[in-house]
Amino acid sequence: MNVPDIIIAIDGYSSTGKSTFAKLAANAFSFLYLDSGAMYRGVTLYALEHGMTSKDNTIDAAAIVGALADIDVTFRSTPNGSFTYLGERCIEDDIRTLEVSSFVSPVSAIPEVRKYVDARLHALAEGGKVVMDGRDIGTTVFPNAHLKIFMTAGLEVRARRRYDEMIAKGQTPSFEDVVKNLQDRDYYDSHREVSPLTRAADAFVLDNSAMTLDEELIWLRGLIQGRFGILE
Ligand code: C5P
Repeated sequence: MNVPDIIIAIDGYSSTGKSTFAKLAANAFSFLYLDSGAMYRGVTLYALEHGMTSKDNTIDAAAIVGALADIDVTFRSTPNGSFTYLGERCIEDDIRTLEVSSFVSPVSAIPEVRKYVDARLHALAEGGKVVMDGRDIGTTVFPNAHLKIFMTAGLEVRARRRYDEMIAKGQTPSFEDVVKNLQDRDYYDSHREVSPLTRAADAFVLDNSAMTLDEELIWLRGLIQGRFGILE
């Protein structure tokens, strides 16, 4: 498929399968995939490992903001896909734990952290064909994105997917904790002051509660062809 330089923004609730869908779409249409949530998770991992979080679920926002200049979260592409790095260290697995998930929403609500991530995303997306997923890509990061998709799915379905993913990675969460984390993040992400999770008025809604990935891709292909008038 021949496409002009475009940005596809995929936003939505936690564990709706945004990154799986975005990666698949990026592969199918030869786009660069950028996972904005991984950036927030990278900053959160740094905060956790440097004593900027406490057991009572609070964070030291001032310390995190003060450390931003030293936090180097990047992506590296390999033939096996894109991996998240903190400096020279691959943190792709370390950022997917329930501990990181439980602090990432308050960390991502810090305005300076959002500025840091937005600047990195803009630099990485420059001049390319990009699929980016997150919570505010179509509303704030790229409000002029050429195609916006808002993903949603039932809570139980999402929790089961996230739980299975964690078990497959050798983690041992309880199903109830996974459900609670999703509910907490949905609430926190939708109610924060800066750049809350909300559907852009011009976003297409994809509820994939009962869809296979193949069906999702067929849906997207139709959308891309319809929107850009592109035929294979
Ligand atoms: O997408 P993922 O679940 O990995 O994102 C982790 C967290 O990062 C979200 O729950 C949200 O708090 C934050 N996030 C955000 N804005 C984005 C992407 C992620 O606030 N664009």
